[in-house]
Amino acid sequence: MRYVVTGAAGFIGSSVCDVLLEGGHEVVGIDCFTDYYPRAIKESNLARARAVPAFRFVELDLAEADVTSIAGDSDGVFHLAAQPGVRESWGAQFATYVRDGILATQRVLEAARAGGGKRVVYASSSSVYGNAERLPAAETATLRPISPYGISKHAGEELCSAYAAGFGVPAVTLRYFTVYGPRQRPDMAFHRFIKSALTGTPIRLHGDGSQSRDFTFVADAVTATVSAMTRGTPGAVYNIGGGARWTVREILGAIGRITGRTLNLLQTDAQPGDVRHTEADTTKARRELGYSPKSDVMSGLAEQVAWTRRALASGVLD
Ligand code: NAD
Repeated sequence: MRYVVTGAAGFIGSSVCDVLLEGGHEVVGIDCFTDYYPRAIKESNLARARAVPAFRFVELDLAEADVTSIAGDSDGVFHLAAQPGVRESWGAQFATYVRDGILATQRVLEAARAGGGKRVVYASSSSVYGNAERLPAAETATLRPISPYGISKHAGEELCSAYAAGFGVPAVTLRYFTVYGPRQRPDMAFHRFIKSALTGTPIRLHGDGSQSRDFTFVADAVTATVSAMTRGTPGAVYNIGGGARWTVREILGAIGRITGRTLNLLQTDAQPGDVRHTEADTTKARRELGYSPKSDVMSGLAEQVAWTRRALASGVLD
């Protein structure tokens, strides 16, 4: 098959490209290298895919360029491009979330529609739940996002539903729960914690560390994503969580044990927009996508620590 992956230079998108290429598919990767974090890191994410002849990279901005012919020529689009990050989404930066999250999604859906109803797998987030009334949260729970980022992901989901209802675009939505592992974005907690542990710099901890997350190893998220393209029910939404809930304090303890370092914690205030706890009910993904997360947090963390060591040694991270 020939697939399009948007956000191909990012953390999850580049990992999706690698797995599709390993599976013998052709991949057209799209990214515009937004300046949210350094291009050098994104180029390093892309390096493995770029070495495969079945990969073609197109640098373009989805909020401006027309991708109708690229989508039309494909068997489906994995739409991972967006402006991520909860804390940055307040204030003037919200315009970027509207542009790269909402407008870009609408344009991808238009391209899928013009291409004759191409399948789209849309990367949404557990942030759409806000502080869910009951845990684990099922897909049917009331959506009450408490950050502008969560609102932008919710809007993308609604666009998928509207294009499915209005034009029969077979869009499938995945709600990822905090993804971690090699290539994790520099603004994300594990990335910051591990780098601080390895470089001996203080770790900024927002809140008291009792907040908890359902952490999902990137390989499991990618397996679910690839499976959603062929097995997902058009119009359906699936939670993708790792299957175990850890507090941030427990994670810090694990990072200390894996790196053998004493962590120097600087506690700061909890951040507006951060939810207290997340936990996914993945019954539906297990049933319909055959989803079965394989990684436990200790081994996933160890892989991320090993990746961070390599990235620091090679100068990709400084
Ligand atoms: P990332 O920032 O590493 O990757 C996103 C990529 O999209 C970047 O490389 C960026 O340059 C690109 N991009 C943004 N706007 C673009 C545009 N207008 N045109 C072309 N490219 C553009 O982020 P990630 O962590 O890999 O997240 C991927 C997707 O998964 C996002 O949609 C995010 O909202 C969603 N998600 C991620 C997580 C997580 O834990 N990482 C959790 C829930 C949802």
